[in-house]
Parts: sequence; structure tokens; C-alpha cells
Amino acid sequence: MDLNKTGSFIAELRKQKNLTQVQLASKLNVSEKTISKWECGKGFPDTSIMLPLCNELGVTSNELLSGKKLKDDEYKLKAEENIVELTRQNNLKNRFLLTIEWILGYFSVFILLVSTILASYLNIAEGWRIVIVLVGLVHCIVGVVFCMKIEKDAGYYECAHCKHKYIPTNKQIIWSMHMGRTRYMTCPHCHKKSWQKKKVEKD
Ligand SMILES: [Zn+2]
Repeated sequence: MDLNKTGSFIAELRKQKNLTQVQLASKLNVSEKTISKWECGKGFPDTSIMLPLCNELGVTSNELLSGKKLKDDEYKLKAEENIVELTRQNNLKNRFLLTIEWILGYFSVFILLVSTILASYLNIAEGWRIVIVLVGLVHCIVGVVFCMKIEKDAGYYECAHCKHKYIPTNKQIIWSMHMGRTRYMTCPHCHKKSWQKKKVEKD
């Protein structure tokens, strides 16, 4: 996958359709800046916008990722290359998100701890103690909510019994017992409970 190649391909197709960057942007509900970023090879359309973009430009996502129109014999080969590359990038993104989650998790607990200690030992009016603890608590809760969102979005869990791989529901993330990234959950496939490890890559 070559960002520059895909970028100039998007620009070329847009001009063939007689669309300005502004017109294409408004059709896709994105900013003009986003379109220009793609066309300059400084960014890549998100998976959620990929299909609407391909529709507007009249190409397949495989062709968009390849940066050119594909002949029948090239098509399958390129599709496989593109899938491998997308998976690789997705794995990198997931690893990055999980690192952020780790840092954010510890930071949230740290803020709460510091605010509680400050509120207990500083010689200040009662009202201010409550304010400090509340501020710490709000930061902590916001941090934890973000962590849970990442926990749900990045990677997947694997059932210890049937090896079924799945993404848990919000309810499962909130209510299941967990130690680090291993959670005790019911598998949606075989309905057995087990300790399940978070995985990033599908193998
Ligand atoms: Zn299972």
C-alpha cells in the first residue's frame, strides 16, 4: 500500500468525475482538508469512509488501496496483498491503543491517589478538600471510561474451550472479573465460562 500512489489516484478519479475537493468532501461529510490530506499522501481514508469514497469515485476498495485500476488477473493477487497490509496496520494500531490504555489506567489511579492525599494533609477549608477529591475522582472516571472503550475496540478475546475469537459486549467488559488483560467471561459460542486472554493478532 503506497499512500502517494493512492493519493494521486484519488485526485485523478475525482477530476475525471468533475468534482472539486469541496464537492467530494460534502458528499462524504468530511472536511476539504481531509480530502487534500489523502490526495497529498499524508493520510489514508478510514475504513468507515472507504466504501462511500469508492462509490463516489466508481472504483473498488481493492483498486483504491492499490492506487490503480486492476485487470482481472491482477485483481485477486492485489486483494490478498492489500488484506495482509491492512491487517498489519490494524495490529500496529491495536498495540498502540493497548499501550495508551495501560498508561492512562495507571495515570487515572495516580491522580485519584494524589488528590486524596492532598485533600487529607493540606491545611485547607473543608469545602476545598471535597473539591480536590471530586476533581481527582472525575479525572479517574474519565480515564477509566476511555480505558474501557479501548479495551473493547482493540484486539479480541479467545475462549479457552472452543478457541472462538470474539469482541465482548460493553456489559461483559464492565462486569467481568479481570486480572490485567485476562477476563473471566462466558463464550458467546459454546457458552462456557473461562479465563480469556486479550489477543491482538488473528493467527
Ligand atoms: Zn467457547
